Amino acid sequence: MPLSPQLVTQLHALADEDLHIEEGCPLGTQTTYGLGGRAAMALFPRTPDALARVVARLTQLDTAYSILGGGSNVLMADKGCSVPAVVLSRMSTLSVQDTTITAMAGVLSARIAEEALAHGLTGAEFLTALPGSIGGAAFMNARAFGREMSDILEDALVVDPEGRLSTLTTTPGDFAYKVSPFRSRQLLVARVTLRLAPGDPVAVRAAMEANAAHRRRNGEDRWPSCGCVFKNPYSYGQSAGKIIDDLGLKGFGTENAWVHREHANFIVHNGRATSSEVRWVMEEVRRRVFEAVGVELEFEVEFEGDWDKP
Ligand SMILES: Cc1cc2nc3c(=O)[nH]c(=O)nc-3n(C[C@H](O)[C@H](O)[C@H](O)COP(=O)(O)OP(=O)(O)OC[C@H]3O[C@@H](n4cnc5c(N)ncnc54)[C@H](O)[C@@H]3O)c2cc1C
Repeated sequence: MPLSPQLVTQLHALADEDLHIEEGCPLGTQTTYGLGGRAAMALFPRTPDALARVVARLTQLDTAYSILGGGSNVLMADKGCSVPAVVLSRMSTLSVQDTTITAMAGVLSARIAEEALAHGLTGAEFLTALPGSIGGAAFMNARAFGREMSDILEDALVVDPEGRLSTLTTTPGDFAYKVSPFRSRQLLVARVTLRLAPGDPVAVRAAMEANAAHRRRNGEDRWPSCGCVFKNPYSYGQSAGKIIDDLGLKGFGTENAWVHREHANFIVHNGRATSSEVRWVMEEVRRRVFEAVGVELEFEVEFEGDWDKP
C-alpha cells in the first residue's frame, strides 16, 4: 500500500542537514544482492540524534518502518518496500583514541579493520572484508575466523522504539550465535565503542591478508550474495552448508540463481535474477533439507519489503 500523502508530508517536515529524505529510492540495488525494488520513502539520518528523532516520530505516527545498515544480510522484494526505510549508511564518522574505536552505525565493518591496522591495534582483523556496517554487525553479532562482535564491543549508544537514546554497556555473556541484546530488546545501534589492544602492525596486516585470502578462496566475492542464507542448526551437529552439500545441492537452482558451488550455504545469482527467483531457490533448498534429514533450517537472511506469500 502506498504511503498516505499526509504521512509523506509529515516525514518530509523532519528533513534537515542531518536527515536526508528520498522518495522512490532504489534501495534493492544498494544491497549486496543488488536486487529488489524501490523504497517508497527512505530516510537517511547522519547522526544518532537524527536517528532518534526519526524513530520517535515514526512511533508517534504509529507507522511501521524497516532498518537497513549495509544491506549485506537482506533480500529486498521485487516490489520494493512500501513502509518507510531508515537507512544508516550516512552515519559514517569514526574516531580512534588510544585503543578505543568509536564508530557510528553506518561505518563499514571492513573500514574498522583498516583503521585498527593504521593505528597499530589488534582485535578487529576478523572484520577484514566483512560486508556491511558495524551497526549491522553488532545487531547480528557477526562472527568470522573464530571471533565475534561481542569480543570487542564495549558499549553502544542505542535508540529504543520510543526514540530515546541511551548507552548500553555489554558483556560477552549478553550475546550468543546470531543473538545480541540489541536484537532481543528491539534496540537500534546508533554508535559503537570497540575495545582493541596494541598490536604488531606486521602481524595484524598478515592476519588481515590471510582472512581476505580465505574469503577469496571460498569464492565469496565471485557472485552477489548475502553471505550465509541459513543459520547453522547446532543442535543437529552439522553446519547448514555441510547438510546442503551432502545432499548434492551445490549448483542447484535456476538459470540465474543457484547454490554456490564452493560454499553451499551461499545462494548467488548472475545479475539477471529477480529477488523472487533467488528466494525460490532458498525455499526449495530448505524444503529439500527438511524432506531429506528432517531439519527445519532457519533463515539467517532477512526478507525485506513487500513479499507475496512464498
Ligand atoms: C559475501 C558475504 C560474506 C559474509 N560473511 C559473513 C561472515 O563471515 N560472518 C557473519 O556474521 N556475516 C557474514 N555476512 C553477513 C553480513 O555481512 C553480516 O551479518 C553483516 O554484519 C550485516 O550488516 P549490515 O549492515 O549489512 O546489515 P543489514 O543487512 O543492513 O541488516 C541486517 C539486519 O540488521 C538490522 N540492522 C542493521 N543495522 C542495524 C543497526 N544499526 N541497529 C539495529 N539493527 C540494524 C537490519 O534491520 C536487519 O534486520 C556476509 C555477507 C556477505 C554478502
